[in-house]
Amino acid sequence: MCKSRYILLAACLTLTTALSADISVYLKNEQQNKKLATTTLDNREYVDIENLNPLLGSVTKLEHGDFRAHLYLFGEQFIFLPNSAYYSFKNEIHSMHYPSLASGEKFYLPANFILEQLPRHFPDNLSLKAKVLQVLRPKDKKVQRVILDPGHGGRDPGAVGKNGTREKDINLSVALKLKKFLEQELGLTVLMTRSDDRFVSLSDRTRFANDNRADVFISIHTNASQSRSARGLETYYLSTAMSSDARAVEALENDVVELYEGKGEKQKYDELAFILSDLSQTEHLENSNFLATFVHQNLVSGTKSCDRGIKQANFYVLRGTFMPSILIEMGFISNLDEEVLLKNGEYQERLARTVFEGVKRFKFRFDRSRTV
Ligand SMILES: [Zn+2]
Repeated sequence: MCKSRYILLAACLTLTTALSADISVYLKNEQQNKKLATTTLDNREYVDIENLNPLLGSVTKLEHGDFRAHLYLFGEQFIFLPNSAYYSFKNEIHSMHYPSLASGEKFYLPANFILEQLPRHFPDNLSLKAKVLQVLRPKDKKVQRVILDPGHGGRDPGAVGKNGTREKDINLSVALKLKKFLEQELGLTVLMTRSDDRFVSLSDRTRFANDNRADVFISIHTNASQSRSARGLETYYLSTAMSSDARAVEALENDVVELYEGKGEKQKYDELAFILSDLSQTEHLENSNFLATFVHQNLVSGTKSCDRGIKQANFYVLRGTFMPSILIEMGFISNLDEEVLLKNGEYQERLARTVFEGVKRFKFRFDRSRTV
């Protein structure tokens, strides 16, 4: 008894020592105190580059081929090489005295780079006062607010699998996991068209997105087919041109209007939507295409699921949105194997993780294009 308590105490002491080296951060915009975790490597304090994102509003990209790390911060890009103290910033080479380190999937920057060099590069945004890093994030146009739209809900179960799995439950579960990643790892604001099992009409979903001036809209669904062998992933963005396959999925998702919102409603959507879609989506089409591409590539490589491609279709829920928008079909609930997978918590976690990585890649590209 006594012995185990002693060990616990010793463990606490080690933990306290480790924590005391963390960097204190004050976020001026939010008026919040935060901690930036540090790790001791080679007897020096290092920071996992990914941990900068939620605090500084930066976005990182790691190239796995040559392990280069890109950090995009306040409209500027840094490039780091592993085991090198040199980095590039505004097309010039700088030194941070100690080398960066790469280990597995992680890339570490020396803590002194965060505390000394960064404030020198951005004197208006970063300063060190009494060992606390003060951060003032500029108000610029970048991906900051994301709407997640878990399809169906309430009286509308969506597609139902042979074993009774309901699409609405899978969609919500994956969306909640994705929300957590986006908030914790990129510091984004995530709003949900529904965060529990309730019915929300398609027009209320798009209105919610537009009223909240979101930068990205992601609708999350699971697919179904008459053919039990149909399987795999599809990602859609809005267009009036489409293949017959895409038309079938579009009909499936749009039927919600007839089934659950009442007769006559569909007519209203049709008349409204074409006027709206012309105005709203054209300027976002290119970005929607990029978002669909990044998310889809990550989904396919991360889940090893069958690739059914990136498609264009005319979904009601995407038509009225004034922002880059995509709709993901994460697999076929009508396929027995995929129904089992989709119900599995770990697989849902992987789906959420891969979509997250896609959104991150999109943010990296979008934020740069907005400030260049
Ligand atoms: Zn659906």
